[in-house]
Amino acid sequence: MPEIVVAGAGLGGLLTALALAGDGHHVTVLERDAGAPPGEPLAAWDHWQRRGVAQFRQLFYLLPGFRQLAERELPAVTDALDAVALRHHPLADVTGESSQPDGDIVTVTARRPTVEAAIARLTDTTPGIDVHRGAPIRGLATGDPIAGVPHVTGVVTDHGVRRADLVVDATGRRSPASDWLTAVGARPWPEVAEDSGFVYHSRHFRGPDGRVPALRGPLLQHFGSLSALTLPAEGGTWGVGLITSSRDDQLRALHRVDAWTAVARALTPIAHWVDGDPITGVDVMTRLEDRHRTLCPDRRPLVTGFAPVADSWASTNPTLGRGTTLALLHALALRDTIRAVGLHDPAAFAVAWHDITERDMRPHYDAVVTADRHRIGEIDAAIDGRPYDDADVAWRAYRMLEDTAHLDPELLRGWFRIAGLVATGTEVFSEDGFLRRVARAARRHTHAAPVITRDRLVTLAHTAGTNAAPARGDGPATRTNDRLS
Ligand SMILES: Cc1cc2nc3c(=O)[nH]c(=O)nc-3n(C[C@H](O)[C@H](O)[C@H](O)COP(=O)(O)OP(=O)(O)OC[C@H]3O[C@@H](n4cnc5c(N)ncnc54)[C@H](O)[C@@H]3O)c2cc1C
Repeated sequence: MPEIVVAGAGLGGLLTALALAGDGHHVTVLERDAGAPPGEPLAAWDHWQRRGVAQFRQLFYLLPGFRQLAERELPAVTDALDAVALRHHPLADVTGESSQPDGDIVTVTARRPTVEAAIARLTDTTPGIDVHRGAPIRGLATGDPIAGVPHVTGVVTDHGVRRADLVVDATGRRSPASDWLTAVGARPWPEVAEDSGFVYHSRHFRGPDGRVPALRGPLLQHFGSLSALTLPAEGGTWGVGLITSSRDDQLRALHRVDAWTAVARALTPIAHWVDGDPITGVDVMTRLEDRHRTLCPDRRPLVTGFAPVADSWASTNPTLGRGTTLALLHALALRDTIRAVGLHDPAAFAVAWHDITERDMRPHYDAVVTADRHRIGEIDAAIDGRPYDDADVAWRAYRMLEDTAHLDPELLRGWFRIAGLVATGTEVFSEDGFLRRVARAARRHTHAAPVITRDRLVTLAHTAGTNAAPARGDGPATRTNDRLS
């Protein structure tokens, strides 16, 4: 069986190792960070340092599509997460009815360190996987060229070269692969990158009685020029994120605890989520890029024996919570490509990996980029006080569905299936009678007054600290991380 080295033990690297080991491959995972996860995943938030993952203590949730895929393909992952995380049935959360037929729509929430520790513990006990922490990869080792391009035969570590039939780059958004490729004389995979334009201001809380606030709507809600993410988590903790445009100078004050709290309290549907003991200050994340790499321009490999997965191949603005679901999808696609093509012809494998990535993953990437541009357009319009108008029919249909979903459980279910990556928009909208239902609901839909006006939002952000209700303790200081790109 081939020997595979995975660079990076983030969620993408760990899921890749699990997918490949399931097919009998021997997988060595090399992780730069030295700290091992605590034996008890629930202790990870307090006791696990992960400098290599900038978003380690940011808001986190796993879409229904993740759970569905994991249940089908890697059930041990589902079991590991079920032991530590919360499961939500979003239809029941929104309608208040617990008997909804939504078995395939389950969102999993827990703080990221807990999730990563649970999956790390699983990889540590899975036969065929060796994880080495404190083992940075310094570069690539190459042998004789194949198809006229460098062929990677392993990785260079502080202890010498580790040989591999395939090196998988799972080093995340800040993947050093371009430098590694240049150093061995290969042309780096061409990249397209743009700032998605969003800023995250998030905080975590703990409830005094160990309970999490009631969900009275979807996890992600839009309030004009600002979106809010409310995520119940394990152990009576939860996270709240306020997401704005990086061009919105008037809401920059949200990095301050007083401004953040005043604004969150004014958003009636989520105001009760601020009533807890803060366990963080406001963690700010900016410069979140939408970036992807083309592996074989013109279907010609630039390198063989080396394949990126997950964020190393493409990373997107995380508002929609898709990253880890797409990482799992990509990991399973890698397993299936090796099954179908093998690794004995590295050039054929490189082209196949390019083709599968473009066919199965690229549409997801494009969908997030499109959604980002529309959401930024909506925010700009809300700031200017004008309606957002765009000719993109698919986008208009999706927003109409979002606006009317509360009027019809079938629409709600369709919306959650699309947002949860359980089905594509095309699949849901082409179901018999679905469009008619949306149109019927749209006729009944009346535009409610906004929860908060732009003027009030700006006033609150600026006057907080002088007249806003104080938070229950300010929690630790604000942390800013703008080094993701
Ligand atoms: C702010 C934010 C919030 C997010 N929220 C969500 C969410 O709610 N839900 C969701 O599904 N996704 C979310 N994501 C996306 C998600 O984090 C990733 O898509 C997913 O975890 C896959 O990441 P990865 O494993 O590819 O990379 P990473 O998690 O970044 O892991 C890369 C690993 O490689 C290691 N490494 C780097 N260089 C080397 C080297 N030279 N040698 C060895 N190891 C190295 C790093 O130390 C790190 O451990 C979010 C992302 C961000 C930025």
